[in-house]
Amino acid sequence: SANRKFHPKDSIIEVGEQKLKVGHGNFALIAGPCSVESEEQIISVAKSVKAAGATMLRGGAFKPRTSPYDFQGLKADGIELLLEAKRETGLPIVTEIMNANHLPLFEDVDVIQVGARNMQNFELLKELGKTRKPILIKRGLANTIKELLMSAEYIMAGGNENVILCERGIRTFETATRNTLDLSAVTVLHELTHLPVVVDPSHATGVARYVKPMAMAAAACGADGLIIEVHNDPPHALCDGAQSLRPEQFEDVAKAVRRVRAAA
Ligand code: PEP
Ligand code: MN
Repeated sequence: SANRKFHPKDSIIEVGEQKLKVGHGNFALIAGPCSVESEEQIISVAKSVKAAGATMLRGGAFKPRTSPYDFQGLKADGIELLLEAKRETGLPIVTEIMNANHLPLFEDVDVIQVGARNMQNFELLKELGKTRKPILIKRGLANTIKELLMSAEYIMAGGNENVILCERGIRTFETATRNTLDLSAVTVLHELTHLPVVVDPSHATGVARYVKPMAMAAAACGADGLIIEVHNDPPHALCDGAQSLRPEQFEDVAKAVRRVRAAA
C-alpha cells in the first residue's frame, strides 16, 4: 500500500540498470524535451542536460495532445531514439505510455510515465501493476491528492511497488499560468505516503521564466525530484515550447536547485 501507516519509512525506488535511487533524500533531476522530435534534437538535449547535472532524460514518444491535429509524437521511433540517447549518455529514460498494448515497446524504458490525462485510466494502471517497472504517475488536471494516492494504489495492488508521484499543477480559475502548482501537495503527500514525490514546474506554469522559482520552491519544501522540459530550440518546439528551457537556462536552474538543497 501507498499508505504511510503500513510503511512508515520513505520508499527508495531503484531506476535502471545502474539502480539509481529516488526518494528518502535521493533527488531525481529529470530533464528533456516535451517530445522526441529527431535524433539530433534528443541526443543534443540529452548531452546538455547530463552536463548540467540531470540524472534522467525525459521525452515524449506517445503524446496525449488536446487536439488530434497537433503533433502526436514519433511513437515507436521516438522510443528507439530515447534508447539511443541512453546508450550515448548513460541517462535512464522516462517516457509516457498511453495504451497498455504498447507495453512491449517499453521493455528497455527505465521509468514509464502515466500522464495527467490517464491518471484514472484504471485498466492501464492495472496492467502497469503487473510489471515491475518504476512508474511515474502524474496528478490529473482536476484530481485530489487522495485520488492520486488511490491511482498509485491501483498499480501497487498488482504487486508493483515502484511508484513515483508527480505534482504537475491542477486546474483552478487562475489563467495567468497554465495550471496552478499545488506545492502543498508535496507536504501533504509526504505525510500520507512513503512514496517519492516529484514536481513538474514546466506543465504547472506553462511559462519558461516561472520554472526556476517554482523549481527552487519545490526543492525547498522537500520534493524528491523535479521533471523539467528542456529544448535546444524552444521557439520551434513541436510541443510545449513556451514552457521549455534552453539548455543554458536549465543549467542555471539546476545550480539554483542544488543551492536550495544544500541550504535546507
Ligand atoms: C508531459 O509530461 O509532457 C505531459 C503531457 O504532462 P502532463 O501529463 O502532466 O500534462
Ligand atoms: Mn509537455
